[in-house]
Amino acid sequence: MKALVYTAPEEMQLLERPMPEPGPGEVVLKIEAVGICGSDMHAWHGHDPRRKPGLVLGHEFAGAIESSTVDGITPGTRFTGNPLITCGRCEYCVQGRNNLCAARTMVGMTRPGAFAEYMSIPVTSLVAIPQEMPARAAALTEPVATAWHAVNLSLRSLVRPLHECRALVIGGGAIGMSAALLLRHLGVADLAVSERNPLRRQALEKHAGCRTLDPAAESPSDSAFDYVIDAVGAAATRNQALSAVKPGGVVMHVGLQDWASEIDMRRLTLDELTLLGTYTYTTADLRAAVDGLHRGIFGDLSWVEERPLEAGPDAFVDLDEGRSAAAKIVLKP
Ligand SMILES: [Zn+2]
Ligand SMILES: [Zn+2]
Repeated sequence: MKALVYTAPEEMQLLERPMPEPGPGEVVLKIEAVGICGSDMHAWHGHDPRRKPGLVLGHEFAGAIESSTVDGITPGTRFTGNPLITCGRCEYCVQGRNNLCAARTMVGMTRPGAFAEYMSIPVTSLVAIPQEMPARAAALTEPVATAWHAVNLSLRSLVRPLHECRALVIGGGAIGMSAALLLRHLGVADLAVSERNPLRRQALEKHAGCRTLDPAAESPSDSAFDYVIDAVGAAATRNQALSAVKPGGVVMHVGLQDWASEIDMRRLTLDELTLLGTYTYTTADLRAAVDGLHRGIFGDLSWVEERPLEAGPDAFVDLDEGRSAAAKIVLKP
């Protein structure tokens, strides 16, 4: 089979790889669509020590069952899936918070990912989709679920209902775009998105109907927002988020570009800010994302660009250089 292999920093190659075999409790999916994630970009830059050259990346997939070692799984049935492979037995898994499972491993990181014609995965990671759901929509389940999980966690901390809140989203990639569309759907009073790429700003205005600002030209106003989502997670955006939020407001930290940086703990304390972290999604979030995508909450998805798997190496370069207006590029093997 053909697979897009991460061969060296800033290098991807389409190579011939052996067809995967399903291990015990596993299925092999014929991949129909797979999204390029910010974390794949991070790996491609050589910045993720967990993702080493020789790996097939890609964890935002949809596909059809090709083969299986599990009874009751019909070949041809289409699924998306949870790329986090969890133990199913620990405290967190039992509580349904399987994103926090300490034993978790991940597709496209600790095992070959979905930038390929076929991929094996445990049957317990499969997430059902309506069989007529387009592959592009199904492959968006994972990034949408990330936004869904983040928004749900933060809504519990807002003091006033969302329809009374002014919100700022920092970063207009797939997570920022999904969060913006979800906040719109949930009736946020006022929404602004900060994004560097002018093509993406246009897409955000068109699809999420929000104000946008270019952080290179203007900073978000200080103490102006009840709720801020940092979907970049760099030292600069983290500080921007903490400045832009009103006293008593909530900052949700989703992206993770810089691991550590100094933040203004004095402001956090004196202004009673709530700073929250969020990591990925639970299986319940993935199911909610499938349902939301299917019901059209995230629009017609014309903010997603499709390209063939062979065009993957160029897609990484285009994303890196900000040449694509799309908040997400989905590859189709
Ligand atoms: Zn991802
Ligand atoms: Zn577990």
